[in-house]
Amino acid sequence: MGRQPTTRQLIEWDRRYLWHPFTQMQEWEQEDPVIIDRGKGSYLIDTEGKRYLDGTSSIWVNLHGHRHPALNRALKKQLDKIAHSTFLGLSNPPAIELARKLIRIAPKGLTRVFYSDNGSTAVEIALKMAVQYWQQRHPKAGPKNTFLHLKLAYHGDTIGAVSVGNIAIFHSRFKPLLFPTMEAEPPHCYHCPLQLTYPSCRMACIEPIEQILKHRHRDLAGFIIEPLMQAAAGMIPQPAGYLKRIRELCTKYNVLLIADEVATGFGRTGKMFACEHENITPDLMAVSKGLTGGYMPLAVTLTTDEIYQGFLGTYDEFRTFFHGHSFTGNPLGCSLALANLQVFRQEKTLSRLSSKIKMLSRWLKPLAKISHVGDIRQSGFMAGIELVQEKITKEPYPLGVKAGHRVAAIARSKGLILRPIGNVLVLIPPLSTTAEELKKMVEIIQESIETLRID
Ligand SMILES: *Cc1c(COP(=O)(O)O)cnc(C)c1O
Repeated sequence: MGRQPTTRQLIEWDRRYLWHPFTQMQEWEQEDPVIIDRGKGSYLIDTEGKRYLDGTSSIWVNLHGHRHPALNRALKKQLDKIAHSTFLGLSNPPAIELARKLIRIAPKGLTRVFYSDNGSTAVEIALKMAVQYWQQRHPKAGPKNTFLHLKLAYHGDTIGAVSVGNIAIFHSRFKPLLFPTMEAEPPHCYHCPLQLTYPSCRMACIEPIEQILKHRHRDLAGFIIEPLMQAAAGMIPQPAGYLKRIRELCTKYNVLLIADEVATGFGRTGKMFACEHENITPDLMAVSKGLTGGYMPLAVTLTTDEIYQGFLGTYDEFRTFFHGHSFTGNPLGCSLALANLQVFRQEKTLSRLSSKIKMLSRWLKPLAKISHVGDIRQSGFMAGIELVQEKITKEPYPLGVKAGHRVAAIARSKGLILRPIGNVLVLIPPLSTTAEELKKMVEIIQESIETLRID
């Protein structure tokens, strides 16, 4: 074994050789990055031995903490059998068992599992399945080759996923590469596009959606939505009853409902899947982030028997779903996902989470009094705190001020890792975070916002 490089050396090599995601590298090169060497439970530990609470669940993926014994064991056990074999023309035990277990816990009516390796691909697969389904099963229903989505939607970074996304600073420059879609206003109550107030608005923002579905259903293969919470948009929750109404409208107008549960799945909102809060079943559902407990890249697109049947035929009818990846059905990832589900059962993760969700609400509440906090939004163990320059007018900080980023930098110095979205501070702790750790996270956030000075 060679000598371990020093932190200084690693920083220098990072600056020289790397390009980080969603990162202005000119700024990155000026800063000293934190280099994470190990983790334990809710903590990340850097190469200097400094400990940080993982307030992002390592970008929304970690559920049961870092270095969980059962997950570590599952990975090592599978590694002693085989790391990978292809899913094209072959199968493997962990992938088979996982599919069976997923179907048991998924919203009723989802009966088939298609594997891939990240949230964006799971979404792309859902889009392609929807389009091909209509062509093969109901060709007279219309061309049905485009999608409806909400404004501020985020479904991933690949071109198809960006096409159904709508976050201007990420997406607008790629417009020429994207396929055309239809978009509708989201139920963004704090900045209501209709300037109404919930619940007296009676969700008036659904009416334009019904108009689109009514008039354009022949063009629409599906309506893709992040159920309950538009997370990457800056934590925009949907009011109770919203998703159920969307499900009813999609059924009425013969448009497939695609639920992107990549962020919300696996307990994040307090139930295994966000769709359960509204007791609905989508026609297609994409999951990824929490699927392996935050250990490895793996994703799944789930669908119904009705859609699956639309792809059956003899080989030369070419109704096959021609899509796959090198690492489809990866046995290491599938073993971890199986262990993840077992930890949910053994540790009663969901029932233990419900009291912590209430604590989080209670502890976040007083932050609303801070002069630069405009709004606090929460669904389960995902929360957004929107910073504003002017509380009354909701005047935002100009993005160049980087208010969120500056608060996160203060929080980091106090031992909490956060990744803000513009002016929205985001707290997404591992589901296993203890009450004490959770309290500490909220305290650091409060102190950090109060410390922020913008001239
Ligand atoms: C993160 C995310 C994606 C993309 O997943 P990747 O694994 O980063 O490709 C898609 N949809 C939602 C809702 C997400 O939060």
